Amino acid sequence: MNAHKTYQERAYCSRAGYARIREVLGGCRWLYNRSLEERRNTYRACGKGMSKFAQMKHLTRLRQESQWWRDLSLQVARGVLVRMDRAFRDFFRRVKAGDAPGYPRFQVPGRYQCIELAEVTPGMVKGGEIRVKGLPRIQIRPTRELPDSHDLKSLRLVARGRQLWVDLVYKVGVEPLPPSDQVVGIDMGVNERMTLSDGNTIERRIENRDRERVLHRTISRRQKGSAGRRKAVAALGREMRRNVVHNRNECHGITTELVRRYGVIVMEDLKVKGITAAGGARKRGLNREILAQTWGVIRQQLAYKAEWAGRLFVEVNPAYTSRTCSVCGHVNAKSRIYRVFECSRCGHVADRDVNAALNIKARGAFAPVA
Ligand SMILES: [Zn+2]
Repeated sequence: MNAHKTYQERAYCSRAGYARIREVLGGCRWLYNRSLEERRNTYRACGKGMSKFAQMKHLTRLRQESQWWRDLSLQVARGVLVRMDRAFRDFFRRVKAGDAPGYPRFQVPGRYQCIELAEVTPGMVKGGEIRVKGLPRIQIRPTRELPDSHDLKSLRLVARGRQLWVDLVYKVGVEPLPPSDQVVGIDMGVNERMTLSDGNTIERRIENRDRERVLHRTISRRQKGSAGRRKAVAALGREMRRNVVHNRNECHGITTELVRRYGVIVMEDLKVKGITAAGGARKRGLNREILAQTWGVIRQQLAYKAEWAGRLFVEVNPAYTSRTCSVCGHVNAKSRIYRVFECSRCGHVADRDVNAALNIKARGAFAPVA
């Protein structure tokens, strides 16, 4: 089976090269905003949207008129329009789904940090170097071996503060794991990061946010527009990114192990609207937010790793999972005892999270198999 795998690597270039990247980002931002305006005007004038292809025709004229755009790979300019198209598609999807629409925005300097290519050729990544027409020499030192460059599917350069990163997507073959008939239910929690239906737990990492707090304070004390403030903002960005990467790597360890051990993995579907407060106080407020973030990362990793390994990943409605008795199915009133589940009908006593994980596992067993 083939899958798309992303390799995210640091990239390096000279000081002059970095200045050139900034310049290209500026050009892309200009093109993005101009194309957005064009779409808006077209819509106002004739009530119709505009396709990516209609806008790409205008690129031809732009390149005829401007040496600057001619010197730059056409794929960079087209990449801007691909990005715009995606923004609009996401917008219409949200409108359709009845979510807050969030019309695509004009991009301000500093926000537009990404150069993506509409199409890639194998020669773009060669011998630890990225070669794209109009971009400076960019070097990468891959942390793991990259697949054959003929399998390169997309390339994206991201400028984060003073750092340059590259996302390389390759088509790779994946081997399914030997089959497993083990089923597991997972309760996402706050006390424990996860509780498995077999009683195992994965501990919650206590994040050290001291440095972030200090940096936030520094920023608020510095004057707006000052160099000191800018530096503190950049430092905060680096710190937050470090935390994100750290969390993601930790999740990789957890999800790889889960997929290796279990044939069917059942989790709460936290996307379900109007979730009941069945989890009690532990599922409200900030905790809920932290939970949702970790859940998002873990969910995403489990979904694709399960698919690659030939495992089944199931999400079930989480309503009442922590109040339902896993033995007799009775839905109990809210428990007042911390961490302990006690059934008022059959007297079953268990760890509350393990009980919930067992309910989740049972619901997965009845879920339709795709
Ligand atoms: Zn019971």
